[in-house]
Amino acid sequence: TSLVDTYYVDAVLLAGRLPQRPQFSHKGTFGHALLLAGSRGKLGAAVLASRACLHGGVGLLTVRVPAAGYDILQISAPEAMALTDPATDFVTELPDLKPYAAIGIGPGIGQEAATRDVLEQLLREADVPLVLDADALNLLGANRELLDLLPPDTLLTPHPKEFERLTEPARDDYHRLELLRNFARQRRCYCVLKGAYTALATPDGTLYFNSTGNPGMATGGSGDVLTGLLLALRTDQRLSPLDAALLGLYAHGRAGDLAAEETGQAGLVAGDIVRYIGPALQKLT
Ligand code: AMP
Ligand code: MG
Repeated sequence: TSLVDTYYVDAVLLAGRLPQRPQFSHKGTFGHALLLAGSRGKLGAAVLASRACLHGGVGLLTVRVPAAGYDILQISAPEAMALTDPATDFVTELPDLKPYAAIGIGPGIGQEAATRDVLEQLLREADVPLVLDADALNLLGANRELLDLLPPDTLLTPHPKEFERLTEPARDDYHRLELLRNFARQRRCYCVLKGAYTALATPDGTLYFNSTGNPGMATGGSGDVLTGLLLALRTDQRLSPLDAALLGLYAHGRAGDLAAEETGQAGLVAGDIVRYIGPALQKLT
């Protein structure tokens, strides 16, 4: 065991952690992911997370969207398979989970009661890695009893407001980091705290601070891109939960930095981050 319980995540720390794609690999080598996302008016979140997951190297991606999202998803993310919900405007039913190696839920999904029940059923039935973000976290915060259902090693990606809904209002930034460490220990989860120098707390209470990213990423949809990328990395069975999280946070910030060189910080939109996921990952292999 180490006396160090805080790390700074840079290219040196991550060297050698992202495996190459083997010559004789096929779609199955990198796994089939399921993403549950989107509701009427927020289908862009589902599209951004889907496109990020695809650019993150996933083998296959199926997306559960409300029926209103069918054309939108098929046109904006043609590489993904759309598995539409019976309901038009929000997700009300959990699909069969058998085919999937990892599952992400939350971007733009809304907080309808039926969606809350889908989340509960997912937490009860899933036995593969989970990534929870956005409204899935808001639903957890509003229904704290669901926190007891979190499977071990689940990855949560709140920004500070979402995090405080899961725990309590923090007195200051330092207190929030202490709450983060305690939350990850108590719930046996990997919990991110997004922002500049995004933090990650692990089940053993270690803290990591990411070194990449820029204020241009403070724009709608940036977090949805992170969720899709992390889902791809959690789907790759060759990566540990820790390496998937660290690589995803670092590559997401690096993609944002590469995008900002092209667009400037103000001009950067979340879709620009997606386009640079490939180049960002390339620098890690
Ligand atoms: P969300 O609030 O869910 O859209 O997530 C925002 C994403 O952008 C997170 O991955 C943040 O880490 C990132 N981000 C936002 N603001 C900054 C910033 N000032 N510096 C670096 N990254 C940022
Ligand atoms: Mg978000």
